[in-house]
Amino acid sequence: MAQPLSPGWVDKESCAFCGHDEGAFVRVRTIPYPICRDCLPRLARFILDSPRNLVARFWAIRKDGDPLGVGFPRSISAKDVQTHASLARAYGEMHLPEDALAEAATAILNGAGLEPVEDALVVIFEKKLRYEDGLWVEELRAALFPV
Ligand SMILES: [Zn+2]
Repeated sequence: MAQPLSPGWVDKESCAFCGHDEGAFVRVRTIPYPICRDCLPRLARFILDSPRNLVARFWAIRKDGDPLGVGFPRSISAKDVQTHASLARAYGEMHLPEDALAEAATAILNGAGLEPVEDALVVIFEKKLRYEDGLWVEELRAALFPV
């Protein structure tokens, strides 16, 4: 059963992942902490490029196979960002988590506009696609910033 996030994360005015407290943050409706602009591409590349078994520690995907980004166009034009964010949403609703995550990460990596990036982040942090665990964010942070 899920543990609530520790109170320290709620309304914290620093990035959930790197801890920086200056610059631009993205707030996602479904999670109670901000993510900075620098950590967005880091998160996207983690999802697209990491070995499956590592990504599968955080999202409900198959552990075997190529990294999620293999076979996906890495670079998309700015006008296509919303399309990919919407595709991520649709795949998420169809419960195709591999496709949903790859599309969302692609949108984030290329997302100049805030709105589609937020849509894509909603998919990435959607409860049904990830493992519910009180330490989820802390463990993801450790994976994004390996020592
Ligand atoms: Zn950050």
